[in-house]
Amino acid sequence: MKEFRCGHCRALLFKAAGNPSCAIEIKCRRCGTLTHLRPPEPAPERHERADHEAQHVVRGSL
Ligand SMILES: [Zn+2]
Repeated sequence: MKEFRCGHCRALLFKAAGNPSCAIEIKCRRCGTLTHLRPPEPAPERHERADHEAQHVVRGSL
């Protein structure tokens, strides 16, 4: 589950199984800030990279 939080106060707005497939507008119940969510953009975000590099660092202690 992916958590969507308020950019202002970090309050949890809602949870979803993935990125929104259409534009969403949601108002924070805590601070009233209006949050706009857009569908995923083609810009690549690689979170898996970090894991890969961590394994690489283990070498070299010999
Ligand atoms: Zn808020």
